Amino acid sequence: MAAATQDAAAIGGELAHLRRAIHAEPEIGLQLPLTQQKILAALDGLPLEVTLGSALTSVTAVLRGGAAKGDGAAGGGPVVLLRADMDALPVAERTGLDFASRIDGTMHACGHDLHSAMLVGAARLLSARQADLPGSVVFMFQPGEEGHGGARFMIEEGVLDAAGERAAAAYALHVASAELPAGMFSSRVGPMMAAAEALDITVTGRGGHGSQPHHAADPIPVACEIVTALQVLVTRRFDIFDPVVITVGSFHAGTANNVIPDEARLQVTIRSFSPDSRALVRESAVRLVHEIAAAHGLTATAEFTGSYPVTVNDDGEAGFAAGVVAEVLGEDRFHPQANPMAGAEDFSYVLEQVPGAFIMLGACPPGVDPATAPYNHSALAVFDDMVLADGAALFTELAIRRLTR
Ligand SMILES: [Zn+2]
Ligand SMILES: [Zn+2]
Repeated sequence: MAAATQDAAAIGGELAHLRRAIHAEPEIGLQLPLTQQKILAALDGLPLEVTLGSALTSVTAVLRGGAAKGDGAAGGGPVVLLRADMDALPVAERTGLDFASRIDGTMHACGHDLHSAMLVGAARLLSARQADLPGSVVFMFQPGEEGHGGARFMIEEGVLDAAGERAAAAYALHVASAELPAGMFSSRVGPMMAAAEALDITVTGRGGHGSQPHHAADPIPVACEIVTALQVLVTRRFDIFDPVVITVGSFHAGTANNVIPDEARLQVTIRSFSPDSRALVRESAVRLVHEIAAAHGLTATAEFTGSYPVTVNDDGEAGFAAGVVAEVLGEDRFHPQANPMAGAEDFSYVLEQVPGAFIMLGACPPGVDPATAPYNHSALAVFDDMVLADGAALFTELAIRRLTR
């Protein structure tokens, strides 16, 4: 088979065109009809079995290899899943790019437009090699990564078994507009991204006159005690080598200096890096809220309103992916990542069921210092098209080599 890198380079311009079209018309959440149309148009004519999501505008495409052992009709051979997310963020773009968002207040600030284009590229390159593939490839185009749990919906709708049997391995790429030099791939064995929980707390007391607190039940000092107790929880209950982050990002109570309010509301994000720590922090934080309120004769509620599990790379698959980067693109193109990232990813749901790897790819524009460039989610974040061909080539080589292994 011809080197995927050369073929990828040859379609780099077309992938950039697709990426810019997606970038200019960003969509948020689980319903991305315009993005879905663009991806379907780009896949048109390829030998793929395409199914669309019902709960969300996902695209699942299956490529059955011609060299699969087995009964032929069902394809046979192992299955590799490649995933790209498709959704944008509620950010008002300020990059000034000529293909910048034309939709007010919506921007592809996390580079998912690049992921979609790279996966289309891989679908084209792998389709051209269909006859030689000893197994099947599932292309997972996923809406709603940014807090909407799109991967979970796609799993419920059967993406992991789309080729007729469970995928044996799964890979996802994620671009970064800063921190990594352009073209540098990075990953690690084990925890790669944090688990994230959103916790909403309401402390309920009884309002009254500020001069007569003994006739009221003041929720503000109790809520303050909860904030500090959450920080003590982090330092006293958790192994420093399996860290937890708790941030109270929002604290609202009251209307005037001489009025004791009925309620105080807190919004909290919690990050953790192992299933054990995650379970412990979820349970401990809620107990602490209830019991601190009770200690002062007040009540409180603590509800988890959204969460993603830890994104855990499989030891074997992460090592394999690092090796493929080095062999296909060069030893100097892979950077072993020392620590997990405190961001979260819903590819975690895929990796809970299928061994695989989540790999970062530096996409900082030329002439810009990755140490100071605006990072993903910034209104100024710029991702360079130059990485599209190598991303498509890596997806392609991961699939070929994993199926052939
Ligand atoms: Zn993001
Ligand atoms: Zn992202």
